[in-house]
Amino acid sequence: MNANLYALFASHFPHDQSACCIETHDARYYSWSDIERASAMLANLLCSLKLSEGARIAVQVEKSPEALILYLATLRAGYVFLPLNTAYQHTEISYFIQDAAPEVVVCSPQNFGWVSQIAFQAGSQHVFTLDAPAQGNNRGSLLNRASSMSDQFMTVQSQDYDLAAILYTSGTTGRSKGAMLTHENLSSNALVLKEAWGWCEGDVLLHALPLFHVHGLFVASHGALLNGSKMIFLPKFDADQVLHYLPQSTVMMGVPTYYVRLLQDERLNQARCNSMRLFISGSAPLLRETFDNFQQRTGHTILERYGMSETTMLTSNPYAGERKGGTVGLALPGVTVRVVNAQEEICSIDEIGDIQVQGPNIFQGYWRMPDKTAEEFTEDAYFRTGDVGKLDQDGYLSIVGRSKDLIISGGYNVYPKEIESVIDDMPEVAESAVIGLAHADFGEAVCAVIVLRAKTTLDAATVITRLKSQIANFKVPKQVFFVSELPRNTMGKVQKNLLRQQFQN
Ligand code: ATP
Ligand code: MG
Repeated sequence: MNANLYALFASHFPHDQSACCIETHDARYYSWSDIERASAMLANLLCSLKLSEGARIAVQVEKSPEALILYLATLRAGYVFLPLNTAYQHTEISYFIQDAAPEVVVCSPQNFGWVSQIAFQAGSQHVFTLDAPAQGNNRGSLLNRASSMSDQFMTVQSQDYDLAAILYTSGTTGRSKGAMLTHENLSSNALVLKEAWGWCEGDVLLHALPLFHVHGLFVASHGALLNGSKMIFLPKFDADQVLHYLPQSTVMMGVPTYYVRLLQDERLNQARCNSMRLFISGSAPLLRETFDNFQQRTGHTILERYGMSETTMLTSNPYAGERKGGTVGLALPGVTVRVVNAQEEICSIDEIGDIQVQGPNIFQGYWRMPDKTAEEFTEDAYFRTGDVGKLDQDGYLSIVGRSKDLIISGGYNVYPKEIESVIDDMPEVAESAVIGLAHADFGEAVCAVIVLRAKTTLDAATVITRLKSQIANFKVPKQVFFVSELPRNTMGKVQKNLLRQQFQN
């Protein structure tokens, strides 16, 4: 048996290799045999570079079928894929390239000049563009060079424990860390999700997520590849395009903001979702309101799941059983989830504590951060997720926030999510974020940052008065700020560290 993740996918490709694997928004079609042959050519090219064992291939390119094929080629050649957020600029790329020391860097033509400078300084041997050549670069693009390679390639033999990818975390709570994931980490999770989400014949995935993150690269693409299902590839989320393609799709995965934006469009209705089998949400908390409104408008109950770069998917609401809004569902088969208190004792039902996990999908550690890795594992080998939550009597997990966002005010623990939910229920409020700001008497003071709905007004005093009748005094914000929108990163995650900086004074 070959533990190489690509070998697993290839064993599930459809018999008819001329069937469509990827269709793009601009009407390009890639068959399964195109995927097999193009990834072979790129794998041959990578092997011709005589890279060292475990070499990292860092890739910062716009989403395209070719970018996914490069990922597959990297797996086939036995190297380590390292995708980078397309929004990253000079300072960030410099950090990632120095940290990860990739032997190959693939970037977009317009960035070639400065990226290659950083890469060569950091010791990379090869810098390429993916398809279009960069001006002044006579080495040609990666695809161009691969075009003279053989389209046959025997996928290298990998072991379970061989690294397949290093995925940098989203940097929501601080500097991104490189999570080292093996072929087994990824294949075990892909196989579990195939069963859990009922992937079946005839499925078509509407793929609007970026390819540099666990959600789009692993959860979404792996699902389709492992099921031999067609993907409709959109370069990014665009409500018009999503609405256009929904009637041809059966499965869509998105971050909560996708669903919020779809709901803002009147064309979203039951008829448009007729062919849909499943809508999945993750990467950030899905508001109860979005869950309910989507159900009313389309008849579909969004399935919310929870995972992270370090672990891929951990829990999911059931495909067949009850999908409970406001929860991230049950531990996936093979995954153990526990919630513990400050003394690391198991919490009782509905008691809030730290979420710790174990399973074949848990990463091998943070790249070049042995101390940090050691800190994040317990003595009995559970990974500390950094998320805080509770399990109900049926085993459904709810996330109440991140331990770094937990507020300790006057010695009391305050969980932002609880207060945000009450504020969000006010008719004038579109959304809110509750943060802790340093305070001389209380240690931290609870503060709320609120976005109002269009054409409404509300003042801080009213918010505070209303909250006083609903929640304990120590949870009531000492200050309320109004903003036009919350700062979010590309995965739709609210960046509370930025809010803390902004409002500290
Ligand atoms: P960093 O670790 O660098 O601060 P990050 O944790 O945002 O960034 P990711 O690995 O992309 O980086 O995101 C994982 C986190 O996303 C989880 O730890 C959790 O806090 C959050 N998350 C994922 N899915 C959900 C969900 N369904 N509901 C609430 N939070 C979620
Ligand atoms: Mg994290």
